[in-house]
Amino acid sequence: MSKLLSVVVSVYNEEPGLRDFYSEATAVLRALPASWDYELVFVNDGSSDDSGRLLRGLAREDRRVRLVEFSRNFGHEAAMIAGIDYADGDGIVCMDADLQHPPELLPEIVEKFEAGCQVISMVRVRNKSAGLLKNVTSSAFYKLINRLSDVKFEPNASDFFAVDRQAAEVLRRNYREKVRFLRGYVQSIGFAKTTLSYEARPRVAGESKYSLRKLFRFSVNTILCFSDLPLKLGIYSGAVTALFGVLMVLYTIHTWAKYGAPSGYATIVVLISFMFAMLFVIVGIIGEYIAILFAELKDRPVYIVKDTVNMEKGGGTAQESGRGSGSLAAEEVPYKKIKNL
Ligand code: UDP
Ligand code: MG
Repeated sequence: MSKLLSVVVSVYNEEPGLRDFYSEATAVLRALPASWDYELVFVNDGSSDDSGRLLRGLAREDRRVRLVEFSRNFGHEAAMIAGIDYADGDGIVCMDADLQHPPELLPEIVEKFEAGCQVISMVRVRNKSAGLLKNVTSSAFYKLINRLSDVKFEPNASDFFAVDRQAAEVLRRNYREKVRFLRGYVQSIGFAKTTLSYEARPRVAGESKYSLRKLFRFSVNTILCFSDLPLKLGIYSGAVTALFGVLMVLYTIHTWAKYGAPSGYATIVVLISFMFAMLFVIVGIIGEYIAILFAELKDRPVYIVKDTVNMEKGGGTAQESGRGSGSLAAEEVPYKKIKNL
């Protein structure tokens, strides 16, 4: 029996390069060994350009193109999660639509699956289009998170990864957190792991949707999700300042006994400012964790699906009409619509 390779592609305003991606990926996928069939699962993450229409067109022409459309922009990770949820493959590959993740690697990924690997992380050796700042901050981030967390992250692991059916099932069932780091989960679930290296190409068209500010927020969340060390900072700094306080008391008693009441306006001001600054930082850190707790508690959906195309197994209506039947299916099966099991 032939196996199925699902290629999950998150799309957000990628209209200019989407056709190139489709033709390049299809050419590579058609040349896969005969024992592997394929499907392309596009997730339209609330694009405001014509990406949606283009994808519908592709889905109409090619039944191997399947489409999930979000009701609004939910972010790259939510799109990948949805893609994994909807993919039927024995092997699932997540990649970007901008051709920065080279489709030529797909045959190698299939070989790794054949060899029994279950989690394949693609490691970027060089990112041609990212500036020096992005490369330096990215490597600093991985150093930090590896120090803080028990999970060991592959530096430069990208959003380009592949999981087999069993590993994908774990992601579907057990990793539904609202504040998350999908790449991190992929590396922390275990299974037979391997890595492949690739050189990131420049974007085929359009520009990166990740600003430095977004990346910073992302990094902070990741640290908070994978480490509770920041929470313990309060205890550590409390212990250190308590020790410091004892020394100050001894010093004050000593100077008082020797020279009378010590004068120390400057010392007091400096100490108070320092202590308050530290206190507020710690309160802030606790606040960040509470914000995460709050987000998890509210339990809002990771993504909301507006429509799907070519998603019904065995049904022909979706291919013919190109739209419509997908949303019907979503209504019949509400959990598919707001998948947040
Ligand atoms: N993307 C998405 N939702 C978003 C932002 C980005 O689905 O809110 C997709 C985007 O279309 C692309 C991939 O995620 O396929 C990676 O985005 P981008 O190329 O902007 O990131 P970079 O490669 O610069 O890190
Ligand atoms: Mg990119």
